[in-house]
Amino acid sequence: MRMSRYFLPVLKETPAEAQIASHRLMLRAGMVRQAAAGIYSWMPLGYRVLKRIEDIVNQEQIRAGHIPLLMPTLQSASLWRESGRYDDYGEEMLRIKDRHGRDLLYGPTNEELITDIFRSHVNSYRDLPLTLYHVQWKFRDEIRPRYGVMRGREFLMKDGYNFDVDKASAIHSYNRHMVSYLRTYERMGLQAIPMRADTGPIGGDYSHEFLVLADTGESEVFFDNSILELNLDGREIDFDSEASCRAIVDEWTEPYSRTDETHDESLFETTVPEVRRRKSRAIEVGQIFYFGTKYSEPMGATVADSEGRRVPVHMGSHGIGVSRLVGAIIEASHDEKGIVWPEPVAPFPVGILNLSQRDSNAEAVCLSICRDLEAKGLEPLYDDREERAGAKFATMDLIGLPWRIVVGSRGLAKGAVELTRRIDGESETIAPEHAAERIAEIYAAY
Ligand code: ATP
Ligand code: MG
Repeated sequence: MRMSRYFLPVLKETPAEAQIASHRLMLRAGMVRQAAAGIYSWMPLGYRVLKRIEDIVNQEQIRAGHIPLLMPTLQSASLWRESGRYDDYGEEMLRIKDRHGRDLLYGPTNEELITDIFRSHVNSYRDLPLTLYHVQWKFRDEIRPRYGVMRGREFLMKDGYNFDVDKASAIHSYNRHMVSYLRTYERMGLQAIPMRADTGPIGGDYSHEFLVLADTGESEVFFDNSILELNLDGREIDFDSEASCRAIVDEWTEPYSRTDETHDESLFETTVPEVRRRKSRAIEVGQIFYFGTKYSEPMGATVADSEGRRVPVHMGSHGIGVSRLVGAIIEASHDEKGIVWPEPVAPFPVGILNLSQRDSNAEAVCLSICRDLEAKGLEPLYDDREERAGAKFATMDLIGLPWRIVVGSRGLAKGAVELTRRIDGESETIAPEHAAERIAEIYAAY
């Protein structure tokens, strides 16, 4: 993509309304634009990152055996009256009337809708277990939308729902979700810690939140430092195996880690040695629940069990804040010059920076590197603008592409271009004809 033909409305000034780094940087890098309080348009650069995150979420869901579908954003109030949540949900729910005076709502979550789909089509324990999910926009009329996409009113969420014949099977689904979430965040270059959580308005008694440590996070968390040493690191996982999922869950839930809602100070002090006790702020990027028959019972979602008896199905729900993750990743990965994207979620894998725009040879070399990269399925962002070198470097640093290739007449005279890593500024010189191969090598690791 040529920057001269792209739409990248970067801001020179730091927007006054933005209180935290991720919000500031997303506005400055032209990733989003506020349309109304807590409602954003995703500009091309931001949209690319959002899609990268959504792709990883989808891949990991499918890997765990979960099935994608798509439910609408608008829902009929009648299902919510069946579960009893229409009145309980409160002012966060945006209620709408259509021209016939029928009550609709903009979905804040989808337990009712999915339970209705399930009860209409599934009848037997033989069709279980089943986990359905979608990635869809939600609306919650947050009292205080803030921090940009971190606490929006309209936001993108992956929400999934498992249906199991009994509690034991539903707990396996719970464990499988925990493992697949750990993989999902790890693939994005994030450390998200599962913490025992309160169940909130969704109800039930089995829940973990996933938290990314950040000073600007809205949650307060308490944990055993040793949990930070855990990682899956590409481990083979059999998602169908109860034992293999449980082993990973045990590993992550053994160290103390809780949000302030479930924190028990005396337990913390008696079970965790003082040197390992940590208290921090953190951003919630996901949550999983098992809630048994909370919805299936009132809504009549039953299946015939192996003895032919009708039993209410056991359910859980699981959410990942896809749009919030864009902000959370920036909070975890930026410096004074701008964003530092981890490779797996970067909007473009590499930026090409032409310092000698008027030199036709430099232009030819840049275009040839672009072609080589595109042939390998890696689309670069090529800064071909008639701009000072300083301005080009500043834009690249701000938008945070993990790698940059600098092409200039002086280097080319020696047959070299410069490849630099954004995170630490480490550089190497390489021949232009090897540049694409080198980038492909780097990305093959992700
Ligand atoms: P919070 O406590 O932050 O309000 P929640 O616990 O109400 O979130 P869940 O119902 O658990 O949210 O939704 C699943 C995920 O969706 C959350 O973990 C979070 O990452 C994301 N999310 C929730 N509310 C918002 C919001 N207003 N803006 C952006 N993302 C959100
Ligand atoms: Mg939550």
